[in-house]
Amino acid sequence: MKKIVKSSKLNDVCYDIRGPVLVEARRLEDEGHRVLKLNIGNPAPFGFEAPDDILKDVIHNLPTAQGYGDAKGIYSARVAVMQYYQQHNIKNIDIEDVYIGNGVSELIVMAMQALLNTGDEVLIPSPDYPLWTAAVSLSSGTPVHYRCDEQAGWFPDIDDIKKKITASTRAIVLINPNNPTGAVYSKELLLEVVELARTHGLVIFSDEIYDKILYDEAKHTCIASLADDIFIVTLSGLSKNYRVAGFRSGWMLISGNKGLGRSYMEGLNLLSSMRMCANVPCQHAVQTALGGYQSIHDLTRADGRLRLQRDVAWRMLEQIPGLSCVKPKGAMYCFAKVDEKKFSISNDETMVLDLLRQEKVLLVHGRAFNLREGCYFRLVFLPHVEVLQTALNKVERFFNAYQQG
Ligand code: PLP
Repeated sequence: MKKIVKSSKLNDVCYDIRGPVLVEARRLEDEGHRVLKLNIGNPAPFGFEAPDDILKDVIHNLPTAQGYGDAKGIYSARVAVMQYYQQHNIKNIDIEDVYIGNGVSELIVMAMQALLNTGDEVLIPSPDYPLWTAAVSLSSGTPVHYRCDEQAGWFPDIDDIKKKITASTRAIVLINPNNPTGAVYSKELLLEVVELARTHGLVIFSDEIYDKILYDEAKHTCIASLADDIFIVTLSGLSKNYRVAGFRSGWMLISGNKGLGRSYMEGLNLLSSMRMCANVPCQHAVQTALGGYQSIHDLTRADGRLRLQRDVAWRMLEQIPGLSCVKPKGAMYCFAKVDEKKFSISNDETMVLDLLRQEKVLLVHGRAFNLREGCYFRLVFLPHVEVLQTALNKVERFFNAYQQG
């Protein structure tokens, strides 16, 4: 019988956050081991539950949300998104500029599918949230990674970006606040990116899904509020700020010089229609979420649960000999550097697998975030402090004895 082989379109598509390391963790669990999972930014299972009014709204609207909705999203959700960004100083936008999707994930893939032809290049941060790289590859584009500088708090290296712009560059991606590094970009840095986009005719894609998860007085600036003469796509959603990742509810806003992108928006409209619409019941959560009490701030203020966990995770990582970590200012991850020489490490995936097998703690290696140099891992600080302490004591014990051979 003829084998059924996956499409060659997938040859360069990777999403290692849920890749081989997770498969090994599942194998260990099947053998009866308890694995401490610090690998995925999924707030609800760690007791970070959604505000009640969001749940009530979805439940209330469930009986009347049985049919397909508008391909670009239900009216109340799109109006709420539009108003949210108007309040954030983004000018000249209307409801037709808003697309609701099944999470930001679906919109990232759609945004790249609608834009790219074979060989078109997209500038993507390294390290990145790997769906961006995967979506560009899947859409026949070429991901070109620009350097984010650890010494500069993981800010994008503007000179490196400049060097990587070619005649084929179509767009630049920003992730702000950043996954995996936790960096929150300054207005000055964002203005430099705007200037590059202006000079080279690039679309800016700004993934701002963590825009409310900020620590230590960090301030988030929507890059779309800084320019109305270039084409900017801003993405965000309910998964992190409102802790309902399972609802699969996200949005995308087109702003700036929209006249430049009429044809592109026709492409987005077509792709939106082809998948009928996003999950309708959960779109009802959007208006209530954006207009309701922002309980995320209770979690991120000085005595908030998420902030305390950030502090514990970061401090304990910094105290482990051979490890260092730039303090995250946003999001829910610590991205730690491991001294490769001290531990003779040549492969950070092997390191994470060794830790998993020895200590039953699951992290994600730096290469999974398209960072090809150095040795890093990402740790999710969503578990309670006691769990984090247990996990980090195990990480410390592991590195105290580790030599990759
Ligand atoms: N963008 C970033 C930077 C993320 O970290 C994630 C999820 O971890 C997503 C997008 C996907 O979010 P969603 O649940 O809305 O699909």
